[in-house]
Amino acid sequence: MFSLQGKSVVVTGGSKGIGRGIAAVFATAGANVAIAARSAVDLDSAVADLDGLGSGTVIGVSADVSQRDSCVAMAAEVVAAFGGIDVLCANAGIFPDAPLKSMTSEQLDQMLDTNVKGTFYSVQACLDALIASGRGRVVLTSSITGPITGFPGWTHYGASKAAQLGFMRTAAIELSPHKITVNAVLPGNILTEGIAEMGEDYIAQMARSIPAGALGEPADIGYAVAFLASDEAGYITGQTLTVDGGQVLPESPEALSSTGV
Ligand code: NAP
Repeated sequence: MFSLQGKSVVVTGGSKGIGRGIAAVFATAGANVAIAARSAVDLDSAVADLDGLGSGTVIGVSADVSQRDSCVAMAAEVVAAFGGIDVLCANAGIFPDAPLKSMTSEQLDQMLDTNVKGTFYSVQACLDALIASGRGRVVLTSSITGPITGFPGWTHYGASKAAQLGFMRTAAIELSPHKITVNAVLPGNILTEGIAEMGEDYIAQMARSIPAGALGEPADIGYAVAFLASDEAGYITGQTLTVDGGQVLPESPEALSSTGV
């Protein structure tokens, strides 16, 4: 069951954090994995880490998901390298904060260009190859923030992550005749380079809000994505899978503090 051996997988934002965790799970399972990001230095370093985890090949592809042409070039490079695309993990995303009152048009555009348009562009660019696969899989990295929860300073981010789910539900219907599924993972707080930049106080505060008592690891998301990308998940489409150590569950701070643990 759940063999991903030999599958051709693209992970946008695969040079760091959650994307690198997703890539590691697929690479370990014997898939051919293309990680895409903007920084060539980070791509090289991640490829060096990932290559050799499994029997497949790992390559780095320079791409900016906020640019349609760049996504088209990314898909062409992967098809040339691996002969096709079976799985697209549309994971690249940014989360700089900006209070609503002072948020500039540039800040809003940057967020929506990367997180929302980047999802559209990367899926559109890979579509012909996913159709040719005959069992294409698209797995989006959304978030609990927006679809389920809110956090001051991240209205634009929450809107972008909720927008991905609106995209997903109609794309899932449109693409089902091609046997392509479109699903999303909703991570809670996962310890990545991006989250580490927010500082120790933020991380400690977040850990206290999670019943599991600690932030998740990129591989926690990777395993969920791998399931949604498997042949066995072929009848699941347009769905979300929250991976958050129970972070969204407590009704109140008391619900969390009275666990007795
Ligand atoms: P991260 O550590 O900052 O890594 C982000 C990755 O995305 C990097 O590889 C980055 O590489 C790439 N990227 C950013 N902008 C890009 C662009 N325009 N084109 C191509 N690649 C781009 O972030 P993360 O924490 O792993 O987050 C990854 C995803 O998970 C995001 O969609 C985020 O919203 C979501 N998420 C994260 C958490 C969390 O707790 N970490 C929780 C919920 C959801 P370059 O900068 O070199 O391009």
